[in-house]
Amino acid sequence: MEQQAITVNEPTDANGLQLTQIPVPSPGAGQLLVKIAATGVNFIETYQRSGVYTMNYPFVPGSEFSGIVEQIGEGVQNFKIGDRVATASGAAGYSQYALVDAALTGKVPDAVDLSVAAALPLQGMTAHYLVHSSYMVHNGDVILTYAGAGGVGLILTQLLKLKGATVITTASTQEKKDLAKAAGADYVVDYDQVAATVEKVTDGKGVNAVYDGIGKDTFETSLAALRRRGTLVLFGGASGQVPPFDLQRLNAGGSLSVTRPKLNDFLTSEQEMHWRFGDMVGWVATGAIDVRIGAQYPLTEAGAAHTALESRSTTGKVILLP
Ligand code: NDP
Repeated sequence: MEQQAITVNEPTDANGLQLTQIPVPSPGAGQLLVKIAATGVNFIETYQRSGVYTMNYPFVPGSEFSGIVEQIGEGVQNFKIGDRVATASGAAGYSQYALVDAALTGKVPDAVDLSVAAALPLQGMTAHYLVHSSYMVHNGDVILTYAGAGGVGLILTQLLKLKGATVITTASTQEKKDLAKAAGADYVVDYDQVAATVEKVTDGKGVNAVYDGIGKDTFETSLAALRRRGTLVLFGGASGQVPPFDLQRLNAGGSLSVTRPKLNDFLTSEQEMHWRFGDMVGWVATGAIDVRIGAQYPLTEAGAAHTALESRSTTGKVILLP
């Protein structure tokens, strides 16, 4: 059986995402074939598409999706056909049917819409490991982050508030500022107001930690915003990658720490994945956190979804519908 998929044949801009027909794959041992309900669009796919990350071409992007289990590979114990599932670790998710290891797949309770579930594995579990594991947030911490109306940003702010932190964030338009405020951020400011806001809110001491997914344009501001022994968690480069860095600056800045994490390193076992995913779906199911689907595109318009993400015009989660 054939299906529609989006392929990347070489490093390209968003216009180079090609609609193709590929075979529906069969699950190998330990795998599930998922009939996709929604595919998450993430910044990493723009880095893979454009050549910032080295890839083997051609490839079908997409590791995050939700859907219904269609077939089960040999040895799979805990899933059955018809289960509602989601994952951040699938293969070739810009398609209609895709494979994933059962061990890297979470079950989605009936109370959580499958479109919303497509936002939880990658962006949700990223927000989860950022606040619990990259830098462990404590009640009363003052935290700086950016893009408060973004996919990760809206979820991250809500988790930070659940942890009892004071949140300073940024957004580039009034609509985005309103969304970030509604998510619970205490201070939502323009990017050029960050230093002054940190100074005012912390009485000049600086923040406990910065979660920086913007990278090139914000790194210096992030470093300068830290208090003594503060931690800079550089988790992305929406504006570009940060150039090489002199470690002596961490000494001069007050015994600072910088870490550059990625999700895979925080999903190192089935147990760790179930902890993070279980927390996220649980909080959504009980209404403790809200996930905003900011835009949905048909699979055939994946290029438009990339353009929107890269041009800063999106809020919340962007998904593709097969
Ligand atoms: P967002 O929805 O947050 O979109 C990016 C936002 O960044 C924009 O909407 C914009 O918000 C802001 N931004 C600031 N400068 C720029 C710029 N020059 N170009 C584009 N956007 C800019 O995206 P995601 O939530 O999907 O991802 C956020 C970051 O998290 C990315 O860097 C991504 O790579 C990273 N990430 C990292 C993971 C990890 O494990 N390390 C996992 C998942 C995501 P505004 O207009 O308000 O400034």
